Amino acid sequence: MVDNNTSDIRSVAVLGTGIMGTAMARNLARAGLDVRVWNRTRAKAEPLAADGARVADTPGEAVDGADAVLTMLLDGPAALDAMRQAAPQLAPRTLWLQMSTVGPAALEPLVRFAAEQDLRFVDAPVLGTKAPAEKGQLVVLAAGPHDLRDRAEQVFGIVGGRTQWVGEDAASGAASRLKIVVNNWVLTVIAGTGETLALSKGLGVDPREFLAAVAGGSLDMPYLRMKSELILTGDLAPSFTVSAGHKDARLITDAAEGAGVRSDLAQAVAERFRRAEEQGHGGEDGAAAYFASFDG
Ligand code: NAP
Repeated sequence: MVDNNTSDIRSVAVLGTGIMGTAMARNLARAGLDVRVWNRTRAKAEPLAADGARVADTPGEAVDGADAVLTMLLDGPAALDAMRQAAPQLAPRTLWLQMSTVGPAALEPLVRFAAEQDLRFVDAPVLGTKAPAEKGQLVVLAAGPHDLRDRAEQVFGIVGGRTQWVGEDAASGAASRLKIVVNNWVLTVIAGTGETLALSKGLGVDPREFLAAVAGGSLDMPYLRMKSELILTGDLAPSFTVSAGHKDARLITDAAEGAGVRSDLAQAVAERFRRAEEQGHGGEDGAAAYFASFDG
């Protein structure tokens, strides 16, 4: 167990091996770190054993003796719950890299827990989805003290292509607020793509004609192409699920409300994701919010 701020990170516990946590844990294991993984549904963590990770039955078993803990769970309450379970095995001054998207409000109890447990906390949500995670090319949006940065970057440098430090005080929520702003853009594009393709279908316009019309111009973008392709081929295997999108849309509307900002688009996006979830598309890619344009 390391208890200073400069030593090498040799072991990392990854709590949460969904779409993102799996890719991140795999890259850490392949980079030669001692990686321990825990997931509520153990079966999802088990394939990581083939990459050399140790699959733990409990969060406590995963963090026991680890130099760093990386949380990549759905939301703030899930991250807090996992860390509470791990508490008896968490050594003081362990580095906690909180990389789930939790939003600024849910950050506060995590920061408090870190202080109570004497953990060294970095708020570090990420930009990028399944493919960038698999390639170790995430953009890490980080806030935390200068004296933790070298150690944190030993992990960020493996899971990410670059780190954007936005503040020294994780509790300020600078990183989580930036992540909310970024996701407002991401979700607006996903929802706009789905609704535009649905309108195209409804008006009897071939969606490929729409894509051809904007091709190469300033309204074209890779994300429009990627999400349109998922809708048009019906291959909705998730990079970012409808359910996670719904959760993030709610984080955005809550944050906007707290800041006194009217968020008409985010409200509509949240409603589209909620409806798609209700229609049974929760586990599909966010592109499936397209279906919210149609009844049933
Ligand atoms: P995911 O595949 O849906 O995985 C969610 C993870 O959270 C799973 O490990 C799940 O466990 C766990 N979980 C959910 N509720 C839980 C609870 N109450 N207690 C314990 N564990 C719980 O999601 P993901 O795409 O990997 O996303 C993980 C985080 O990264 C989220 O905060 C998401 O917003 C963020 N993120 C995602 C993307 C993306 O493109 N996918 C990009 C940037 C950031 P089970 O397996 O047992 O359900």
